[in-house]
Amino acid sequence: MNPLMAPTTSPLADAAASAPHGLETRPSAAPRPAEPTPLADARVQLAEAVELLGYTDGLHQMLATPRRELSVAVPLRMDNGESRLYLGYRVQHNFSRGPAKGGLRYAPNVNLDEVRALAMWMTWKCALLDVPYGGAKGGVAIDPRQHSMAELERVTRRYTSEILPIIGPERDIPAPDIGTDEQTMAWMMDTYSVNSGYTVPGIVTGKPIALGGSLGRASATSRGVTHIALAALRHAGFEPARSTAAVQGFGKVGADAARFLAEAGVRVTAVSDQYGAVLNTGGLDIEALTDHVRETGSVVGFPGADALDGADLLTQDVDLLVPAAVEGVLHEGNAADVLAKVIVEGANGPTTPTADRILRERGVLVVPDILANAGGVIVSYFEWVQANQAYWWRADEVESRLEERMLNAWRHVLGYAEARDLSLRTAATALAVERVAEAHRLRGLYP
Ligand code: NAD
Repeated sequence: MNPLMAPTTSPLADAAASAPHGLETRPSAAPRPAEPTPLADARVQLAEAVELLGYTDGLHQMLATPRRELSVAVPLRMDNGESRLYLGYRVQHNFSRGPAKGGLRYAPNVNLDEVRALAMWMTWKCALLDVPYGGAKGGVAIDPRQHSMAELERVTRRYTSEILPIIGPERDIPAPDIGTDEQTMAWMMDTYSVNSGYTVPGIVTGKPIALGGSLGRASATSRGVTHIALAALRHAGFEPARSTAAVQGFGKVGADAARFLAEAGVRVTAVSDQYGAVLNTGGLDIEALTDHVRETGSVVGFPGADALDGADLLTQDVDLLVPAAVEGVLHEGNAADVLAKVIVEGANGPTTPTADRILRERGVLVVPDILANAGGVIVSYFEWVQANQAYWWRADEVESRLEERMLNAWRHVLGYAEARDLSLRTAATALAVERVAEAHRLRGLYP
C-alpha cells in the first residue's frame, strides 16, 4: 500500500475489531467505592500541600480553581450518513508560569470533573519539572474503538474548531493522551493551521516526526517512568536486575515501560489491559507480547503466559507495580492487598488519597504521577522548542536531556520529602505548588 494513503480505519478500531471474539472491557481493579472522584482526590492532595506551605484561603482557592473552562458540543456525521453528538471539554487550570499544556483524551466516560483534575495535575507536573507551562487537559466523551478513521478525523477537526479560540502555541498546546495518538495531533495541527492561514507546528506536541514531531517523544513518558522506577527500586534496596514488576495498561505508556524495564533486566511477570491480564512468573517476553497485541488488540490470549484476572494484577507478588492505565485503581478497597514495595505511577491519578495513606503506613514507596510520568511533557516541551525554532535535535540529545531532568527532579523531591518526613506525593505537590504560587505572587493580582 502507498504509505501516503490514509488507512480507512484507525489502528485503535483495527485493534478492537480484531480482538479475540468475546473480549469485553473488564474492570482491572476491584470496584472502587463510589466516591470520591479524581477531582476530589486532586483537591485533597492540593489541600495537604497548602496546609504544609501555610497559604491563605484566598491563594488556596486560586490554586484549586481552573482559570478557564470550555464545554463544547461535537456533532459527528457518521460514515453511514447519520449524525451523533458528543460532548467535549478543554480546561486550562493555570497559566501563571506560561502557556497551558496538556493532553487530549478520547474515552466514553470523560467528564468535566475528570478533565479538571487532569488539568490541575498538569499544572503541578509542569512546575515540578520546571518546564515553562501551566496545566490544561481536554477530552471528548467518545469511544474511539467504535469509529472509523474518517469519523475520528471529523470528530477531531470539529472539536479543534470548537476550542480554537482558546488554544495556540503561546496559549494552550494539546498532546496525546488515552485514546488519541500522533495522527490525532496531525489533524489538530492541520485544522489550526488552515484556520490561521499558515503552518503552526507549535500548536500541538506528540506530532508525527514528518510534521515536526520530536525524536523520542513517542516513548518519552515510558522512558521517564523507567528512569524513575530504576532509581526508586535502588533507593528501596532492590537491584533492578534481580527485581520483578507488574504493569497495568499496555498502551502508549505501559507497553514501552514494560519493554524498557525488561531491557534494564527487570523481570516483568504480569501485564494487563482493559480486557484482562496475563502472567508468567518466569518473565514475559515483552517483544512477543507486543506482536500479539498488534495482531489481536489485547494482551489476552498471549500464548507465552497464563490468564490472570485484571483485578489481581495489582496485588501480584512483585517488587515494582506500574499502574499505567486510568485513575483511581488503587483505593481503600485494595491498597492493603498490594504486595509490591515500590509503586511508580505511569498513569495520572491511579492512587486515591486513602490508598496513599494505607500504602505509606505499610511502608510502600509510591512515586507520584506528577514526577513519575513527566517524561512526556518534558519531551513535549523539547518538541515545542524545536518546532518554534525549526531546528531539530538528535535522538540521543533528547534522551540524555530527558534523563537528566527526570533524575534531577527525583533527587529534588526525595531530598525535600526526607528532610520533612513527607510522602513523595506531598513533597512533589508542595514543591510544584510553591513554584506556581511564587509566579502568581511576582506577577501580582490584576487589576
Ligand atoms: P493509551 O490509550 O495508549 O493506553 C491505555 C491502556 O490502558 C490500554 O492498554 C487500555 O487497554 C488500558 N486500560 C484502559 N482502561 C483500563 C482498565 N480499567 N484497566 C486496565 N487497563 C486499562 O493511553 P496512554 O497514553 O498509555 O495513557 C495511560 C495513562 O498514562 C493515562 O492515565 C494517561 O493520562 C497517562 N499519561 C500518558 C502520557 C502520554 O504521553 N501518553 C503522559 C503522561 C501520563
